[in-house]
Amino acid sequence: MRPYVLAEATWKFIRETRFDVAVLPWGATEAHNYHLPYGTDTIECDRLGERAVGAAWERGAKVVLLPTIPFGVQTGQLDIPFCLNLNPSTQAAILHDLVRSLEMHAVRRLVILNGHGGNDFRQMIRELQPKTSIFLCQVNWYAAVNARDFFDEPGDHGGDLETSVMLHLAPELVGPLSDAGPGDVRKPRVRAMREGWAWAPRRWTQVTSDTGVGNPRAATEEKGARYAAALTAALADFFVELAAMDPKSPYE
Ligand SMILES: [Zn+2]
Repeated sequence: MRPYVLAEATWKFIRETRFDVAVLPWGATEAHNYHLPYGTDTIECDRLGERAVGAAWERGAKVVLLPTIPFGVQTGQLDIPFCLNLNPSTQAAILHDLVRSLEMHAVRRLVILNGHGGNDFRQMIRELQPKTSIFLCQVNWYAAVNARDFFDEPGDHGGDLETSVMLHLAPELVGPLSDAGPGDVRKPRVRAMREGWAWAPRRWTQVTSDTGVGNPRAATEEKGARYAAALTAALADFFVELAAMDPKSPYE
């Protein structure tokens, strides 16, 4: 039993333990080019979450990893088979119920560990925060360290970054790179959207032909290992600091 993984902990242990931080990983179930599994975002959240929370626990922080929610926002992928969508309003309802459950206990800080680009919990947190005494925050694991220090072209989805991470975390689930499409992306016709200062959600089948965004061909296990180690350390530091922070006084 890893005491910091709720799914492995017993009532006997939980009853006697006070946790300062709960971490809720939130993934997705969706196509990832031809070579990565549908569970990619969920597997990454699971395993990176276990490593980061484990490292924080070893340093004495009372952090607990909740089970990963495997469904994300897929409103741009509904025409791709088995991309399983939760609307943001459904996610908000789930988050609300889980926060209510945690309020009953001593946990006073909740981190959503997000692993899917289509998920965004910030507006939900803005709405929920005034209604709860639990300090709420989110972190996208892929933003914890600068990916460009590790990858020439990280890619958004099923590219070098994600393929390298999966080669490190779950190599048995990665298909041959010779099966992978190039992950080419079509550019918006409108300049403001090309430049990124105007935004609209992307309809995936219009943007890419293989569901990938970013070329995975340069991916290696070694790059994935170095990147995963760095971001795990950054997340562990975050959890340790957050556990020590008074949630009523988050500013210096
Ligand atoms: Zn992904």
